[in-house]
Amino acid sequence: MSENETPKRYWIWTVGCQMNKVDSDRVAGTLKSRGCIPAEREEDADIVILNSCAVRESAERRVSGKLGNLVQMKKERPDVLIGLTGCSVSADFTSTAQRFRGADMYFQPTRLDQFVEQLDQFWPSTQDPGAMSCWQEQSGETECAGPSAYVPISNGCDKFCTYCIVPYRRGRERSRPMLDIVDECGSLVKRGARELTLLGQRVNAYGRDFKDGTELADLLALVNTIPELVRLRFLTSYPKDMSDRLIDAVASLDKVCEHIHLPIQSGNDEVLTNMRRGYSRQDYVRLIGRLREAVPSLALSTDIIVGFPGETEEQYRDTLSLMEEVRFSTVYSAAYSPRAGTLAARWTDDVPRDVKKDRLQRLDALQQHISMTQHQALKGETVEVLVESAHSERKDTAQWRGRTRQNRLVFIPRGGQDLMGRTVHVRIEKASPFAMQGTPL
Ligand code: SF4
Repeated sequence: MSENETPKRYWIWTVGCQMNKVDSDRVAGTLKSRGCIPAEREEDADIVILNSCAVRESAERRVSGKLGNLVQMKKERPDVLIGLTGCSVSADFTSTAQRFRGADMYFQPTRLDQFVEQLDQFWPSTQDPGAMSCWQEQSGETECAGPSAYVPISNGCDKFCTYCIVPYRRGRERSRPMLDIVDECGSLVKRGARELTLLGQRVNAYGRDFKDGTELADLLALVNTIPELVRLRFLTSYPKDMSDRLIDAVASLDKVCEHIHLPIQSGNDEVLTNMRRGYSRQDYVRLIGRLREAVPSLALSTDIIVGFPGETEEQYRDTLSLMEEVRFSTVYSAAYSPRAGTLAARWTDDVPRDVKKDRLQRLDALQQHISMTQHQALKGETVEVLVESAHSERKDTAQWRGRTRQNRLVFIPRGGQDLMGRTVHVRIEKASPFAMQGTPL
């Protein structure tokens, strides 16, 4: 783009998980490096990127609907470019284009090289697409919107759980070079991040593909040395990859927070086998025992699917009893929906919709009760809160919003002080199932 040319404007629409948000930041970085600027409204953009999620059918329907609207818009403004990325895009662009018609370009998540190559066909640039690796970040362009930032460290998954589309769409596991990650973490901290979350679909398998004994524990130890970094987290862990070295790292590294997200998916062994999760209920409960022995103040959150093909009421109740036994801090629950291309999609989706809904409601009610009990127990206690954002600008409801090291949400009255990005000690005064309220000391 020449100096006198009006900068092109971009708009990125993102659905799905934190990984997608980070990928969108990288697409934004690529566009900014070519002189593009963010559009104020989607209608003003010269290029619109849809970053899709395929984990649930409802998310993919939203993507189709959104693309349909953009294709209509393109009839009025034929110069607008539409790009589709995220987990809805497989390596086979032809079949992706048949399922999602009308986009000008399709590129797989993290494959900025594919994006740049196609973008060059519309907006030629002097940048050499061959010079970009799938991990390439635009130096200095990674977004750092607040005190908490996310850093992708691996991508893809080799597990092939029977219900999951991720391995088909994101491919085999690939770990990012350790020094690249440490550099990016250092740069984010210099730009104001105080808490970093290392991201991967199976984050605790980090380094296995290097085949030199590298583990997530090694990376945590390095990132932990960054001055001014206050907190370090990692997401999402797979139960069988929780090694003793990693547990020791969580216990001994001062910045690593006492919270682990560890999806169980079901509390029944037969359902776990059908899901091909690779562990039993007892394996999982034993692992929790090891973790809690090493880190007594640890909070655990999890993912659970209800209504998996063949799940009986009795099997579902095993999940409820597991929740009673483990007492998670948060449960992210979902009703099963088949994803075309997975093994489970070949089986009859035989749990009726209203039964799934009822199971979801009972499960959520139980978790609310457990969370409420945990939050009530913290009333009168002092907790350390990292303030992440202003919850509301309205004077009567103005509050700061932050999280404890255990990832519990805390609201603090706004007051006169600017607490943004600061770590404060807060005495808890009120509790609800979803959050707590307190006063800074
Ligand atoms: S481990 Fe997670 S990302 Fe990998 S296949 Fe299973 S559910 Fe999907």
